[in-house]
Amino acid sequence: MKTIIEPFKIKSVEPIRFTTKEERVKILEDAGYNPFMIHADDVLIDLLTDSGTSAMSSDQWAGIMRGDESYAGAKSFYRFEAAVKKITSDEFIIPTHQGRASEKILFSILGGPGKYFASNTFFDTTRANIEFAGAEAVDLLCEVGKHPEQRAPFKGNMDIDALKAFIQKIGRENIPLVVLTVTNNSGGGQPVSMQNIREVKEVCKQNNIPLFLDACRFAENAYFIKKRENGYADKPILEICQEMFSYADGSTMSAKKDALVNIGGWLSLNDADLALKCRNLLIVTEGFPTYGGLAGRDLEAIAQGLEEIVDEHYLQYRIRSTEYLGEKILAAGVPIIEPPGGHAIYIDAKRFLPHVPAEQYPGQSIVCELYVEGGIRTVEIGSVMFGKNDKNGKFIPAMMELVRLAIPRRVYTQSHIDYVAEVVIDVFKRREKLKGYHITYEAPMLRHFTAKFKPV
Ligand SMILES: *Cc1c(COP(=O)(O)O)cnc(C)c1O
Repeated sequence: MKTIIEPFKIKSVEPIRFTTKEERVKILEDAGYNPFMIHADDVLIDLLTDSGTSAMSSDQWAGIMRGDESYAGAKSFYRFEAAVKKITSDEFIIPTHQGRASEKILFSILGGPGKYFASNTFFDTTRANIEFAGAEAVDLLCEVGKHPEQRAPFKGNMDIDALKAFIQKIGRENIPLVVLTVTNNSGGGQPVSMQNIREVKEVCKQNNIPLFLDACRFAENAYFIKKRENGYADKPILEICQEMFSYADGSTMSAKKDALVNIGGWLSLNDADLALKCRNLLIVTEGFPTYGGLAGRDLEAIAQGLEEIVDEHYLQYRIRSTEYLGEKILAAGVPIIEPPGGHAIYIDAKRFLPHVPAEQYPGQSIVCELYVEGGIRTVEIGSVMFGKNDKNGKFIPAMMELVRLAIPRRVYTQSHIDYVAEVVIDVFKRREKLKGYHITYEAPMLRHFTAKFKPV
């Protein structure tokens, strides 16, 4: 088989700024050893997130010029609505400025004290919106999904028996909705199988509970189904996406992921009554129902992005380039979540730095070293993000200590990724010399964004 190539030519480029190692040592110190506080201009390769960091195509930029900025009933809205309907087949399509705005609207209407929502794994903004509305969010991930070193084709699946037991225990009348996150972002970008979606739907149907997709990476999930699930090898991606959505009663979406744009989202659904309530709240918080917090040009770019995302050549390149980075560092012994997910590689910091205890944040230590060594920005997903202290001040670590290398869509080439692998391997080779960190400042909530650190 020949090399899988980037399925595009580069028409416009954005220079990246080189810094020396000495400069980066100083930059990192000034940033309190927290890469969130570094100016993007001081970053060579930015793997902080795949959200809103995609490169748009020439057709999307052309759409930006074509955008109809009419307040109501803009042409761009109808193009957007048709593009979302083509994939979801849902009746009511509500634009929002990003995923969490859709979540805020949906869960403040359906949630509240005494209500429970279940998912394979809730993404942090989804969980936060459910909890903010006074309800509870429960993760029911399949067992294999909880073991980073175990390989399985669909580690994002929901545990069907756990779902049945959950409904039995809580009572169907207290569960307004079940959510499947595709792919499972917090669980390492692992896919959910069509069979699992079908089975979850069957349980929901028997109990009269609607099923929604948190659809941010629906196309990446569809590609994994095509490659890994029996009976899908010859199906076009669009048809696989349509089948996934056919089992759902609605979806929330961050267009900053699989719609290849820098801002946008939607809420789609079939329940007319609920749609009316959502649109009324949308008018208060986002805007009129035909623009929902976006400009006409943004809607145009999303519509175009949705045509491009289901292109099989794009998805082959996308999934392969993530896997390529995973394979390269794995071959050098670097421990990662296996198999590689769709949008990111997750380094297992516990196994990478066994000599650094969780309370000295091994993930943060790797994040800092990757920046100093190669100007690469990544993010810790471990005890900095999820660790806490109990009432007596005793440290409670996160379940896993990870470093996420998220790959922006269509932004970096193979040589950029080769460079990233070289830097990771270089740091891994001298891992014994890496030291832990302690926190010198933290905000009361979501501390990872603004915390300051000092080396131990
Ligand atoms: C990014 C993301 C969201 C939230 O979307 P925003 O556009 O960042 O508000 C929700 N769920 C998942 C799975 C995501 O990856």
